[in-house]
Amino acid sequence: LSLPDGTTAVADLVCSDGRIGDIVGPNSRVADADEEIDVTGLHLLPGVIDPHVHTRDPGATHKEDLEHASRAAAAGGITTIFEMPNTVPPAGDATAIDERRVTHPERSVVNIGLWGLVLGHEDRSTLRSLAEAGAVAGKLFWGYFFDRQTGALVYDPATLPEDRRVPPASIGDVRKLFTEAAAANFLLGIHCEDRSVLDSARTGTPAEDYEALLRVRPTEAETVAIAAAIELAATTSARIHILHISSARGVDLVRRAKQDGLPVTAETCPHYLSLTAADYEGVGSALKIFPPVRRELDRQALLAGVQDGTIDSIGSDHAPHSLEERAGSFATQPAGAVAVETMLSVLLDLVAASELSLAAVVRALTWRTADLYRVAPRKGRLEVGADADVTAVDLSSSWTVDAAELHSKARMSPWHGRQLVGRPKLTVVGGQVAMRDGHVFSDVRGRFVEPLREGGRSSG
Ligand SMILES: [Zn+2]
Repeated sequence: LSLPDGTTAVADLVCSDGRIGDIVGPNSRVADADEEIDVTGLHLLPGVIDPHVHTRDPGATHKEDLEHASRAAAAGGITTIFEMPNTVPPAGDATAIDERRVTHPERSVVNIGLWGLVLGHEDRSTLRSLAEAGAVAGKLFWGYFFDRQTGALVYDPATLPEDRRVPPASIGDVRKLFTEAAAANFLLGIHCEDRSVLDSARTGTPAEDYEALLRVRPTEAETVAIAAAIELAATTSARIHILHISSARGVDLVRRAKQDGLPVTAETCPHYLSLTAADYEGVGSALKIFPPVRRELDRQALLAGVQDGTIDSIGSDHAPHSLEERAGSFATQPAGAVAVETMLSVLLDLVAASELSLAAVVRALTWRTADLYRVAPRKGRLEVGADADVTAVDLSSSWTVDAAELHSKARMSPWHGRQLVGRPKLTVVGGQVAMRDGHVFSDVRGRFVEPLREGGRSSG
């Protein structure tokens, strides 16, 4: 068992009624157990949480849907996903959350929590209702346009008539939003890329290769937004969570904010920890991800940030597009990685390569993530009374990623062909076996996950 202090213990887990009923010494017999699973040689982790998954459901289910994404999660050792709100229609108000908290778990093999969408102007008053409806956090896509009519996130505003464009939040909008979030005690997760910096970096010619992509999506687009967010958090006391940090300077900004005692936490993704722009030659267009993967010095700084806890959480940013959409030229195809299924293995491979410690990976994937989204202690812990969500991994199993074997709709991966050491062997969701030795039990259903409310109402 992996324990929160980074140590391990040898023990047997007893699951009953979807909870961890007991933790007993090795080889002690449990009378009248319905089922016994031998996990000798495997490491038991608290069920891994992926807080950053775009299932695209509803709206863009030709790219991905909840059934496929949740099976991919179970296959990858994930017991809980948090669904990103930029669906069509978006999870933008309490009504959408109320509906999906019932319908989504009915279709998902793993547990599911929901992000709520916040725009920064137009909808500040909905923050409190999103929190009350049970959203795990509010997501601010800083720097993106939205379609007023459909609620969809718009990658290229030129494709939309002017009166339908909801423009990106200004810094003043964000300031007001933070004030509201602080009053509602609601966590805000932020995609940090400043639109005006991106606009200023535009070259007029399409980015046909990775070096060109790095020029039009420079580091400072990310760091200027992170710096502004930190300054606004300092004065408004909003709890902010910087999503998918890709740069060394981004890590530095968060480290300093934490040293100053500010309510700032941070996430990065497996691609920023394991890949760099130099991999484009071998990986090809599957490496098109926003923000882009950058240089080795960025990767090293991100690894150090996970290792020392500056980076609290790791999410896959699973963001599939159809193979047809991804078949176009590098310049015009949409960005995003198919990543939920490989996240845990990619990180275990970094442990095998001594680039990260197992304790740091477990912290970022389980208990620290559960703490910051306030779904602990029922999630993120292997202790009596916690939900029986368990991930068992073989730290020495070596395998090669084959995109054709993935459970997502779009079978492509920036890790295709890569040999990894470390693999999930068993996924237990609320006491039910959702994956064993690579076989996914599609009839298993997860439950809705929501933050602990003030006054003590529990997630589950
Ligand atoms: Zn995302």
